[in-house]
Amino acid sequence: QAKESGKRTWCVFSSELADRAEARRSVEMDLHRAVENSELQLYFQPQVSTKTGEIVGCETLIRWNHPTRGLIGPGSFIQHAEDSGIITRLGNWALREALSQARRLPKHMHIAVNISPLQIHSASLVSTIINALATNGIDPGRLELEITESVLMTDTEFTLDRLNQLKQIGLKISLDDFGTGFSSLSYLRRFPFDRLKIDKSFVEDIDHDEDSRAITKATLTLAKALNMKCTAEGVETECQKQFLTDIGCDELQGYLISRPQPLEKLKHLINLAPEPESMPQNEATIVG
Ligand code: C2E
Ligand code: MG
Ligand code: MG
Ligand code: MG
Repeated sequence: QAKESGKRTWCVFSSELADRAEARRSVEMDLHRAVENSELQLYFQPQVSTKTGEIVGCETLIRWNHPTRGLIGPGSFIQHAEDSGIITRLGNWALREALSQARRLPKHMHIAVNISPLQIHSASLVSTIINALATNGIDPGRLELEITESVLMTDTEFTLDRLNQLKQIGLKISLDDFGTGFSSLSYLRRFPFDRLKIDKSFVEDIDHDEDSRAITKATLTLAKALNMKCTAEGVETECQKQFLTDIGCDELQGYLISRPQPLEKLKHLINLAPEPESMPQNEATIVG
């Protein structure tokens, strides 16, 4: 009896695991094909200075033009890519692609690229960045890597060394989605952040919630006290823009300014250089 029920339990468990493993394998294969077949695309979202009202940079956001499912946002595949390890390859592609397209941006603009936890550990991260900067003639000071608090929670010593190594090349490091993770304030003291990004969940509530205004303002004060720049993400209304400008937030990003778009579609907002005749190939086949 005991043996039988034990067996049954095991069977249910095992088939669930098998299903999940199967699902993961299929997404993984799908993603490998996506990288090989250039199904991935970078969208760019402008970031505006509150002081001048001018676009001072762009964040790159990955999209997947899936042959049957259509355009897919990162929310539904980045975690799979992270779990299966293919994020390293995908992330290296994104870095090379971002810096290749960045040649069309005015030289004063920065380029922000999102980096996932596993990428920080990848042995190829630093060389990929150095090579892509050199190939495309981009000043390292223009590249900002956006990481989330989840990156800081594991293998802290290693991560600290890696971030310092990246800073030595001259890159900037931003803390993304600030306030949504574990937010231990000691991270702010230990890690070399240049910028703090106020998460859109706080920005979203600015118009109608006193507490969100207070948290946003306190976050900005903290950033300033620690010599960091501050960017608000998810700015959608004039009212949010006004509040963020009044309290001295440095940069704004959100649908109010522009949705993320393929770079070419931002030409009415940004003075883009023409597409270079011979873009050095961003070889999808280079193993990351
Ligand atoms: P994130 O880095 O915090 O990016 C901001 C997200 O907010 C983007 O979602 C952007 O499209 C969205 N957004 C921008 N303005 C507004 C607005 O006004 N209102 C609202 N409601 N949303 C706005 P997206 O593109 O779906 O990306 C989601 C997340 O996926 C990103 O969050 C980032 O963590 C991750 N991600 C995107 N691209 C990459 C990549 O190349 N590599 C890695 N590792 N992660 C990426
Ligand atoms: Mg980001
Ligand atoms: Mg964010
Ligand atoms: Mg996010």
